[in-house]
Amino acid sequence: MSAKDKPKHPKADHELPPAPYGYGSRWLVESAPAGEMPDHGLPAVDAMRMIGEELFLDGDPMRNLATFVTTWMEPEAQRLIAENLHRNFIDHAEYPQTAEIEQRCIRMLANLYNAPGETTGARTQGSSEAIMLGALSLKWKWRERREADKQPTDKPNLVFGGDVHVVWEKFCRYFDVEPRIVPLKEGKYTIGPDDVAPHVDENTIGVAVVLGTTFTGHSDDIPGINKLLVEIKKEKGLDVPLHVDAASGGFVWPFLYPDSEWDFRLEQVRSINVSGHKFGLVYPGIGWLIFRERSDLAKDLVFTENYLGKEDETFTLNFSTGSSMVLAQYYNLVRLGRKGYTYVMTVMQHNANTLAERLTEMGNFELIGQGEEQLPLVAFKLLGDQGYDEFDLAWQLQAERGWMVPAYTMPPNAEKVKLMRALVKETLSREMVDSLAADIATACETLKKKGGAVETERRRVKTGTGY
Ligand SMILES: *Cc1c(COP(=O)(O)O)cnc(C)c1O
Repeated sequence: MSAKDKPKHPKADHELPPAPYGYGSRWLVESAPAGEMPDHGLPAVDAMRMIGEELFLDGDPMRNLATFVTTWMEPEAQRLIAENLHRNFIDHAEYPQTAEIEQRCIRMLANLYNAPGETTGARTQGSSEAIMLGALSLKWKWRERREADKQPTDKPNLVFGGDVHVVWEKFCRYFDVEPRIVPLKEGKYTIGPDDVAPHVDENTIGVAVVLGTTFTGHSDDIPGINKLLVEIKKEKGLDVPLHVDAASGGFVWPFLYPDSEWDFRLEQVRSINVSGHKFGLVYPGIGWLIFRERSDLAKDLVFTENYLGKEDETFTLNFSTGSSMVLAQYYNLVRLGRKGYTYVMTVMQHNANTLAERLTEMGNFELIGQGEEQLPLVAFKLLGDQGYDEFDLAWQLQAERGWMVPAYTMPPNAEKVKLMRALVKETLSREMVDSLAADIATACETLKKKGGAVETERRRVKTGTGY
């Protein structure tokens, strides 16, 4: 039923006596406004309670093992966030110190990603905005190169694997670029140089690779693809840039695998995006785009304007937005430091390994790429036919214990493969891991007895990996 069809505040069919001592509110006996804006308002406490109570119907974020996004921050960070909700981030002239703090975050990330010298970047709403902007810069820089060579500029293409996030296809559709998608295979869920090579030509604006896929948490072969692009540059004179989608991996690899080269240490890597609100450990609403050098940002995409009496440069898709998450990102960077982030990541990885061991001990699961460089998560599937599938198990686990562990099918051409995936975040302690493992075992036993979830139950299972 759409909100429009919903009956408007049906009156209770009999008069209730007045609430004693002002206890309760009229929303105990009336339905919430859902179609038209009500004529009259209601007391602040009633409004707060009405909405707050309704949200109990949502899943509990602390049991949401589907999302990569932060569900817990320290009380001091929460206070900083709450105290700065009234500060519009884009008002650089009025809030120069907030703008300076954004620049500090960009410099720290560029340094973390081994940028060779002076660089530039942008705060974004998340990796999606960062990817749109980064890919637009790829397109503009490609067009500059083609125009300089007096070559046509009407057929740009972008090469990436089927293991990317949906935002890459979105970019191609919104901004009129041909997507050249390398399909996956059963048992092969990332891409390497041999997959990319046949697709690169003079109209390729760039190659996008993933550091920590949403499907299994692994990385594309970035050094291998870099090497291929360096060879193409030497042999054919085509300078094809590499953009790393490090939405999740950008705050994991530098701490867990510091010697793995995936960033600006590699010659063709020209830009990187990362979600501050994933392993950057900030609440939703913050992402970053970092360029290798200032010249990697196409000048035409930067707008200089005179706003409220001051010259300002902007490179964004959005305009007004909060400052809180920028400040919260800076809070984490200085509060944790490299050692702190390393500790948090190591603990998550340790607990993920424990969960992986428990699942292996049960004997009916296969782990995907355990032991390889991976995000702190466990991706797993059922071994053979056990009379129920991963979607049944996801449903049973949520029904019995409220855990949200998604089941999903892999992208083409591996769509026959069904997986489940549990994120092991900061708040999933060892005790919680042990409980989760026991709950998974119980859910399997229940399903074995009843032979899968029934059809009406299965229809309620949400598919998709969850981000
Ligand atoms: C989450 C994710 C995105 C999208 O990031 P948002 O911050 O949610 O906009 C893009 N790419 C990858 C690999 C991701 O994991």
